[in-house]
Amino acid sequence: MARAYNFAPGPAALPESVLKQAQADMLEWGTAGASIVEMSHRGPEFMEVAARAEADLRTLLGVPADYAVLFLPGGATTAQALLPLNFAAPGATVDYVVTGHWGKTALRQLTPAVTANIAASGEPDGFRNIPARDTWRLTPGAAYVHITANETIHGVEYRPAWGEPAPETGDVPLFADFSSSIASEPIDITRYGVIYAGAQKNLGPVGISVVIVRRELLERTGQPRADIFNYGSQLAHDSMLNTPPTWNWYMAGLVFRWMLDEGGTPEFDRRSDEKAALLYGAIDGSGGFYRNDVDPAVRSRMNIPFFLAEDAHNAVFLDGAREAGLIGLKGHRVLGGMRASIYNAMPVDGVRALVAYMQDFQKRHG
Ligand code: PMP
Repeated sequence: MARAYNFAPGPAALPESVLKQAQADMLEWGTAGASIVEMSHRGPEFMEVAARAEADLRTLLGVPADYAVLFLPGGATTAQALLPLNFAAPGATVDYVVTGHWGKTALRQLTPAVTANIAASGEPDGFRNIPARDTWRLTPGAAYVHITANETIHGVEYRPAWGEPAPETGDVPLFADFSSSIASEPIDITRYGVIYAGAQKNLGPVGISVVIVRRELLERTGQPRADIFNYGSQLAHDSMLNTPPTWNWYMAGLVFRWMLDEGGTPEFDRRSDEKAALLYGAIDGSGGFYRNDVDPAVRSRMNIPFFLAEDAHNAVFLDGAREAGLIGLKGHRVLGGMRASIYNAMPVDGVRALVAYMQDFQKRHG
């Protein structure tokens, strides 16, 4: 059976060539006599895999030398819990801009040791827009400002039409959850203090996350914590304070290489524009049969939630989609409806197939 076009939000589609490479490498790594998953993380084979993955990610994202790159087990939620422990002293204020479900999740990872200030929230508007920068109530001297670059469920993303993609926060470092949009376009890393992302959308399989941090921030004392939760210690040990998720790290490395081979972030930026224009065009051009409620200035290019005018059509839509080779379209339970996640590994042809299916479905049920 042919592989379907997979619109799942994460774990998400991986490039077929990456899966094939992993399949080929699974049994034996070169002449090592064992699979890469069976070898010591401190052995020369894996050390090389790890170093190459970091070098490729640095090239892909243009990470400057004064930024450290950590590969850590766990997901974005783990990072959300570790940010205040590493970068906010007890009693400090941290500013959060909440533009959807994942911004709220980030807030929930804070402990009472810090004071949380919601500097702005899109919740009163149903997370359909991002509050204008000049309405944010930032705290002078806050430990950091936290934003969610792309909200995976609500489909809201900082786009140029909103203003600066990396909003100005003065002397207070900007921390951004890039889980669902990392490597989808060139970004200026120097605008951020910390960028973090769970791998399972744009970077590889779930189980590992990437944290990019301006080195000087690692000098902060933060809060009392076990060494394993200390980003500075992790850096000093090359993210190998304990046994790292080697397979996930290796797989992420394959994805980085694939992205570089495909043309890097400028090419994925171009493809993302094309894919998003196709899908939003189909939704907006459907005369109300399909609907996306997000302010066009901040519509995500990665996750596109949409609703059918008649809820009764949802199950039929999903069944037919599956038959047409289109999977993973069911919306998150928070919003209902549908959601198409179209990360870097989703080819333009996959989106064309979805649009053709949507138009055909409308002819039959409109
Ligand atoms: N932030 C964003 C933007 C996400 O999309 C997700 C997962 N969908 C998370 C955080 C939580 O990630 P994890 O499940 O890896 O902890």
